[in-house]
Amino acid sequence: MPRAALPSLSCVIPCHNEARNLARLLPMLAAVLDSCSRAWEVILVDDGSTDGTLAEALQWAELPGFRCLQLSRNFGKEAALTAGLQEATGEVVVMMDADLQHPPALIHEFVRHWRYGADVAFAQRRHREDEGFLKRLGARGFYALVNAADGVEVPAGAGDFRLMDRVVVDALLALPERNRFMKGLYAWVGFRTVAVPYQPEPRAHGNSSFNLLRLIKLSLDGLTAFTNWPLRAVSVMGMVMALLAFVYGGFLTVSYLLYGHEVSGWTTIVVSLMLFVGIQLVSLGVVGEYVGRIFEEVKARPLFVVRSRVGRGMKVARK
Ligand code: UDP
Ligand code: MG
Repeated sequence: MPRAALPSLSCVIPCHNEARNLARLLPMLAAVLDSCSRAWEVILVDDGSTDGTLAEALQWAELPGFRCLQLSRNFGKEAALTAGLQEATGEVVVMMDADLQHPPALIHEFVRHWRYGADVAFAQRRHREDEGFLKRLGARGFYALVNAADGVEVPAGAGDFRLMDRVVVDALLALPERNRFMKGLYAWVGFRTVAVPYQPEPRAHGNSSFNLLRLIKLSLDGLTAFTNWPLRAVSVMGMVMALLAFVYGGFLTVSYLLYGHEVSGWTTIVVSLMLFVGIQLVSLGVVGEYVGRIFEEVKARPLFVVRSRVGRGMKVARK
């Protein structure tokens, strides 16, 4: 059964140093929202920007439909998205980046899918040919590792550009964990989901905040939050090593009894020592990654701190 023709819509945009992009994105976005919603609001989450983003956002917040939520420092994109979701009041919520990589026109398509029963419509990139070889390889490896366990399947190429029904948003907000690896959380909550293929544009102004280090951190967050096979792999590896040592020990004993002492093998000793020390440290590291995250969770600090909220309710687009 088709839903209401035009929903009330909240659009959440996390912004970290995006002053120049906002000035270009928001007029386009407002035009799209006017035509595909009954009433709308755009929630600009200023995630500790150090350029003119806040001033720009505050100016926009004087216009009907625009709101600005200022966080007290940079908490990261995942926290900024969660902050925006908590503020959103619409029947459906759209999340998008501020850097014009996500074309606003796709929201028409999202709303159409929603009307015909999808709870989630997300933009899925067609290919990664615009990215460097290493980044593509990294992404491949990451999805292979995350999806190695059975359980939730995190689809490759799915980003944060998506529309979600109110029930989905409430389900996401009800998840208690501090580690907000959103791609995994979307997959975990489930619901009727439709992928809309698209190809992101290059960033309009400024640079991506996700350098190699941050991407590695994000992947570790995702891996530890959605898999525990690395822990199992460590114990299996330990057992295999112990078994090999047992067999080799037997072999050495027998050869000693048959042929007597043989005093060479210094290289073997040093090499095997280094191998086993290496394996032990890596295993300790794997366990440590999980323990560190348990620590984060038990501290139970809030995900973000809000400094100010500016702007009023929704703008009515159509009667
Ligand atoms: N962003 C944020 N906080 C951060 C880093 C990024 O709110 O600490 C926002 C940023 O302003 C943009 C979106 O997240 O709207 C995506 O960031 P970016 O373009 O740097 O990432 P990429 O597109 O390279 O994945
Ligand atoms: Mg970007």
